[in-house]
Amino acid sequence: MLSEFELIARYFAGPAQSTVPGATSGVVQGPGDDCAVLAPTPGSQLAVSVDTSLAEVHFPADAPATAIGHRALAVALSDLAAMGARARWCVMAISLPEVDDAWLAGFAEGFHALCRACDVALAGGDVTRGPLSVSVTVHGEIPAGQALSRGGGRAGDVLAVTGALGGGRGGLEAWQAGVRELDDPLLAAYLLPLPRLAAGEALRGLAHCAIDISDGLLVDLDHLCSAGGLGAELDVAALPLSDGLVARLGETGAREAALCGGDDYELLISLPSAQFATARQGLAALDVPLTAIGRLRETPGIAGVDADLLHNGWRHFPGGAS
Ligand code: ADP
Ligand code: MG
Repeated sequence: MLSEFELIARYFAGPAQSTVPGATSGVVQGPGDDCAVLAPTPGSQLAVSVDTSLAEVHFPADAPATAIGHRALAVALSDLAAMGARARWCVMAISLPEVDDAWLAGFAEGFHALCRACDVALAGGDVTRGPLSVSVTVHGEIPAGQALSRGGGRAGDVLAVTGALGGGRGGLEAWQAGVRELDDPLLAAYLLPLPRLAAGEALRGLAHCAIDISDGLLVDLDHLCSAGGLGAELDVAALPLSDGLVARLGETGAREAALCGGDDYELLISLPSAQFATARQGLAALDVPLTAIGRLRETPGIAGVDADLLHNGWRHFPGGAS
């Protein structure tokens, strides 16, 4: 059986090198000392966020270990994307019921692969014995004063979302129905979400406000409206639906999943209508669709959505946890 230190050395203490040619990781001291020591870019502000993923609450305990590693990091990085931050470092605390080499190898592979893809360095962490749970703290950088906040929206702004909606919920239902192929688009949306980091950075200076919609579009739109002291009109027919969602959940179910399902790691933004085409083109170059789904308005409340869904959306999908 591996000791805690052997386990860390084998799976988590890889060299912290930037995957971008010519860039440095900014890791002065990585795993192996009492703290990580990091060198932020002069002139930038740090964006910091932590997310805990608990087995059987946030992911199925028997999901592939690679997906658990990927997903725990992805959900944390999504918050950096929503601030328009450039992701740089993470620290990760894992609690494990037992040391299972094959499982750890898979978990580390999923985690490190997403680190490389997003140019994030794992700078340290913690390992304990207990129920399976993974906490990831992420650190990103933003040019001073340019963070995309939730509260910057203005009445008349176009509301827009990246990517497609409902895949998180559709993928959970697919998993529960026995689908296990990770190349199934819905299951991939649920277990292997890709944080919209490049899109978030590209939207700095274009979007007035941004939030990631991990809690579901309606709940997070409500957060965006409250933060800005505004209301919204949604065009529900315009919502971009994930591939395969209508086939799995039907028209009504698909729309409900898009509005209330949660676990969609897309960005909801508002921006002046004159900027929408520029933003859409910029994101298209990154292979990220941007779809207009409504407008912000002075009058509080969310118009355009069935009142039952607005007030009882969570009841349509019991058991959600964030
Ligand atoms: P301490 O007792 O000082 O908290 P630990 O024994 O927990 O130190 O960790 C030893 C070193 O290994 C630290 O530098 C820590 O950051 C690193 N480390 C521990 N767990 C992880 C992990 N899950 N991922 C990356 N590094 C880790
Ligand atoms: Mg420790």
